Amino acid sequence: MRGLMQDVPLTIDTIFRHAEQHHGDVPIVTNNPSGKVRTTYAEWAQRTRRLGGVLDTLGISADGRVGTFAWNSARHLELYFAAPCTGRVLHTLNVRLFPEQLTYIANHAEDEVVFVDRTVLPLLWPLIDTMTTVRHVVVMDDGGDNEIPDDPRVLDYEALLADADPVEFATTDENAAASMCYTSGTTGNPKGVVYSHRSTVLHTMAVVSPNGFGIGVEDVAMPVVPMFHANAWGIAQAAPAAGAAMVFPGAVMQPQALADLIVDEGVTFTAGVPTIWQGMLPHLAGRPHRLRKIGCGGSAVPKALSEAYREQVGLPIYQAWGMTETHPVASGGTLSTRWADADEGTKAERRARAGLPLFGVQARIVDADTLEEQPWDDKATGELQVRGPWCAKEYYEPDAGVELTTPDGWMRTGDVAALDEFGNIRIADRTKDLIKSGGEWISSVDLENAIMSHPAVKEAAVVGIPHPKWDERPLACVVLNEGQTATEGEILEHLRPLVAKWWMPEAVEFIDEVPKTSVGKFSKKDLRARFADYPVRD
Ligand code: ADP
Repeated sequence: MRGLMQDVPLTIDTIFRHAEQHHGDVPIVTNNPSGKVRTTYAEWAQRTRRLGGVLDTLGISADGRVGTFAWNSARHLELYFAAPCTGRVLHTLNVRLFPEQLTYIANHAEDEVVFVDRTVLPLLWPLIDTMTTVRHVVVMDDGGDNEIPDDPRVLDYEALLADADPVEFATTDENAAASMCYTSGTTGNPKGVVYSHRSTVLHTMAVVSPNGFGIGVEDVAMPVVPMFHANAWGIAQAAPAAGAAMVFPGAVMQPQALADLIVDEGVTFTAGVPTIWQGMLPHLAGRPHRLRKIGCGGSAVPKALSEAYREQVGLPIYQAWGMTETHPVASGGTLSTRWADADEGTKAERRARAGLPLFGVQARIVDADTLEEQPWDDKATGELQVRGPWCAKEYYEPDAGVELTTPDGWMRTGDVAALDEFGNIRIADRTKDLIKSGGEWISSVDLENAIMSHPAVKEAAVVGIPHPKWDERPLACVVLNEGQTATEGEILEHLRPLVAKWWMPEAVEFIDEVPKTSVGKFSKKDLRARFADYPVRD
């Protein structure tokens, strides 16, 4: 017997039309360097339809890749919908990548056009001749006085939009590609993940749900996580789907400006990587705000950071886990009142976990070689593997030998985790960041958390340094709070009761800043290179 329900395709047009028809009066604000620009979903929808017309006029092929090189803005949101809703594939380029990587990615994806903010045009334009498939560069003037090249390939966004006719959106194939994102390529070439309409709609439903980010019509959502990084964690689709107002930081990404935006625009939901919240804490602490939830993930969320927000901003950080390959949100922290009776330590532990898989995603931990499943006892660790309709099956034309899926159909994450009896995820480390000492594994994340609980420590990153006897030993790289002091001995004394003896770092190096990747995560690769010849004791 067959189900007798309508078979309506899960396409991104459905999100677009919902926002257009039901939430037209809801405001969208972009904080450009040239000043705040205010619009509504009604105006955005009308412009998005005309942008569809622009893509036709530019002759972008039926499933042509539409590159963007832009900050978070209402214009970027127009592109987020106009490309997939006309059958094209949105390809967000990370403005902070190295030139060689940008060229590689644009050529690998075969971008036909790139829409670029004027504030970052000088980063893109010198590369344009190396991007062999790009025929048009459309400049979005977000302020500043960067020179706009006099070149037939260069066009003006607003001029194109003014001349364009609006189009109807009518995609029907839910499995067609909608957008692509490349991982930042910490090892090897960047790898392309291709989201479908269907995966995007299902991910959106999970993100708006209460156990996800829980975004609703009462919310004012501000994605700090860039729209060029991992699909902006789904917020750019979730907010329109939920009819939530949106606030975009544009190119103005300084912590003070972001905090002001949160306060002045009444932001209720926001999300970004831990370093963003680390930087913003002093600018938010003690100020009146309407924040209800702060989403955080992308790298280990220090317990000390979450607790500092609870104490100084009035709400703990909501931890999520995921990867570009999982759209990216796959699990979310649970701050259930069911634990209201637990002691404060247990509650803080709970908040420091990556949470339960969102409904739709399954998770397991396995021995990476034998694929033998490990027990859910919060002690055993193994490679975290996931399965679900918004997890990637394979990369877009990967290099030889790159395989994402296990023979039995699970997605490899390269993360090492433990699961408690309910499958609540505790990320121990990335496989490549684990420290192997005397044949045993040390979690750099656990050590960092312990170090960061020292009151004088602002940031700590632990990396393995080569050791003749133990193979590797942990080196603690520590940044102190401004105006505060601590010695190596004091840091080690603080650690001693918190970690096993053989986990104790070989040494503590005080550094001015932890190097960051293009998306603001700790760059342990850079630290390992910097301290590769570190003198060790036998
Ligand atoms: P990359 O950092 O490789 O460019 P992503 O931005 O997709 O790619 O990052 C995914 C990775 O970020 C995960 O594999 C994991 O290592 C890390 N990560 C994400 N969320 C968390 C979390 N809550 N705790 C610890 N690590 C996390």
